[in-house]
Amino acid sequence: MWCVAKQAKEGINVSDTHPLAEAGALVAGLAAIFVAIALLLIFMVELAMYFMSTDDEAKLFANWLPDNLISVSHTDDRLRETQLLVDRLALHWPETSYQFRVEIDGSELSNAMALPGGLIIVTQGLLDQVESENELAFVLGHELGHFKNRDHLRALGRGVILTVFFAVVTGNDVTAIGLTAADLTLRRFTRQQETNADEFGLAIVHAEYGHINEAWRLFERWEIADNAFLDLVTYLSTHPQTGDRIADMRSLAREKGWRTDGEIAPLSW
Ligand SMILES: [Zn+2]
Repeated sequence: MWCVAKQAKEGINVSDTHPLAEAGALVAGLAAIFVAIALLLIFMVELAMYFMSTDDEAKLFANWLPDNLISVSHTDDRLRETQLLVDRLALHWPETSYQFRVEIDGSELSNAMALPGGLIIVTQGLLDQVESENELAFVLGHELGHFKNRDHLRALGRGVILTVFFAVVTGNDVTAIGLTAADLTLRRFTRQQETNADEFGLAIVHAEYGHINEAWRLFERWEIADNAFLDLVTYLSTHPQTGDRIADMRSLAREKGWRTDGEIAPLSW
């Protein structure tokens, strides 16, 4: 008998599922894996923080500076004065075991940041803009607030979390790794972290001066500055809207009964 081969049905190797649906499932699967990895990394940071005391953190990052820092001379007046101001403010937080180190970055862009190990970086651009010690004290006090809540560790970029985690586990320091400030500040602080840092900073300013006059005057000037000027204020890209912050701080001051008038301390340079 002749056997006639049945012609293969077209598309026999293709499953019944629509190709787009399959691609969708693949994307969803990959996304789930990425989310799982991200959560695992976040968990590892929390774990590292649990095991890493502030002392360990200070030791780990003791000599570390961001690779891309444009340092100013170590005899710079503003560097010395800013360090002295941080030291004075930190006296109002006696329980801390951080030894705060100030570095000035030569950038024209205004910014300030808290980095692991008690390192506070302020830019020349920011120092050019502050008009009183009270204004600078609040910016610095706010950064101290991030250390208080150890936000700076939660801000570590995901790429460096593993590196830092293994440095913690093996007890090495991180000086040789070549991290930039951006590696360490990849994740923006949340609004809640910023509010907590503002509250801490304002309390420190109040403890230092007995009032909070001019604490946020720098932000008020930014509120009315033009866009060309604000392009140079990178602080605003990492912090919440200044108007909201000022409103929150005003109501905090009212609630606490803090004086909003009082003598302004001039800058010491
Ligand atoms: Zn902040």
